[in-house]
Amino acid sequence: MSKLVFAAVILLLGASALDAADPGIVAKQTSSWRAQHEREILAEFTEVLAIPNIAGDQPNIDRNVKAIRAMLEKRGLKTQVLTIDGASPIVVADIRVPESHRTIAFYAHYDGQPVDASRWTSDPWKPVMRNGKAKEVDWRSAKSIDPEWRFYARAAGDDKTPIIGMLAALDALRAAGMKPSVNLRFVFEGEEEAGSPHLAAYLAKYPDVLRPAAWILCDGPVHQSGSMELYFGARGTVGLDLTTFGPVKGLHDGHYGNWVPNPIVRLTHLIDSMRDENGKILIAGFYDGLKAPTESERNALAKIPDVEPALRREFQIASTEGDAKPLNELLMLPALNVRGIESGHVGADASNTIQTEARASIDFRLVPPETPESVKALVERHIESLGYKIVREKPGASVRLAYNKIVQVVWGAGYPPARTALDLPLSIELATIMTAAGHDPVRLPTMGGSIPMYLFQQPNDTPVIGLPIANHDDNQHAADENIRLQNLWDGIEIFACLFTKLTPD
Ligand SMILES: [Zn+2]
Repeated sequence: MSKLVFAAVILLLGASALDAADPGIVAKQTSSWRAQHEREILAEFTEVLAIPNIAGDQPNIDRNVKAIRAMLEKRGLKTQVLTIDGASPIVVADIRVPESHRTIAFYAHYDGQPVDASRWTSDPWKPVMRNGKAKEVDWRSAKSIDPEWRFYARAAGDDKTPIIGMLAALDALRAAGMKPSVNLRFVFEGEEEAGSPHLAAYLAKYPDVLRPAAWILCDGPVHQSGSMELYFGARGTVGLDLTTFGPVKGLHDGHYGNWVPNPIVRLTHLIDSMRDENGKILIAGFYDGLKAPTESERNALAKIPDVEPALRREFQIASTEGDAKPLNELLMLPALNVRGIESGHVGADASNTIQTEARASIDFRLVPPETPESVKALVERHIESLGYKIVREKPGASVRLAYNKIVQVVWGAGYPPARTALDLPLSIELATIMTAAGHDPVRLPTMGGSIPMYLFQQPNDTPVIGLPIANHDDNQHAADENIRLQNLWDGIEIFACLFTKLTPD
């Protein structure tokens, strides 16, 4: 090799090595800025965590909006507050970059789940720092801040952490003289925990604001392995209540058993006909036409760290459903969950009675291309094929006398699943930037739970990708909700890297 060629190769290698390391440099700078400003970050966090945030508690929701808006404006962001009568406002803030022609929206929600304060160790809206042994620590006067400490407060994990993480990331970038590479839009919803009842109306009322080129949903906990995570879909859902009927009054089961139909047995057989004990749904046509995992989804599934032995120990279960297939592979399939069965009494309260009715509550989890409507049709066809008369109300005497088998079927509201392809340029870009920043993400093709991702996707098939920050054991929705500080610190780094490294177009 001539000296000249050698030099050129070194130059090329050097340049590409520098590019690849770039998010790593941003991550490092952000992390050292954060180390110098932890107390400021936590002080601002405390203030916003101290504002009660249950959707419907309008005065406090308004206080949250005001506080978040002030935090954004303090940093020079242009804000707007979207409103719909009777709904919690959505706070929106923008950073425009002249060179960029696309806008990426980062979503989080500022409302939290209702609390049962009697179950909390301390007031849900008086944030308290505790160490790894759950002992309270005075972080303000501590010599150093341990990243394993946790802040305890409602919405600490779900979902005010991303809000504070994004703002701290902007501060870190400003301090380093770095600018976002792409137009950023921050969208903070205020009634996610109430089921986002007005999200569809907001998307319809504010199409210009709420139709970015892509959505990054910063909500939920990271993978149980502790690794950062990206999720690319969510299952849809639809629930139903089934009621089977016996005699119109409770009857002595010694005198009438074997002769009068027993509604509890009818119900359990009906459930058995729909799902086996391995989780397989037995309803005809249920798996027809389901989208098979793509090659990139299969590759991502194969790389998910195996946390199942630990989970089995934690839950004290010796075996699993689904032919021992991995959890995340099973989440790519629809599910039928029996949420509860109710009739008669047990133990000391049991009586020798043939009950008048038995009720079950069921939910289905849906995967593409299923919809609540397609599932309803299949389920009802199945129930009718067993000789049942489906009714919507409690049957009267004439219906009871006319049909041998009657079931009341009441469907709940539901919504369809959504999935974003793992091989879209943005999907690849997000994972690449995070990996280069030192946070190689677990990529989940879909999460098992249901969030209305489909609303963000419509109507243009907009990419929607989930980027959770909180620790997996953050007690979200429960008492003693918390955020592990290292998760917040990691979140700040990742936000700083994404804000500066996403391609402008
Ligand atoms: Zn949430």
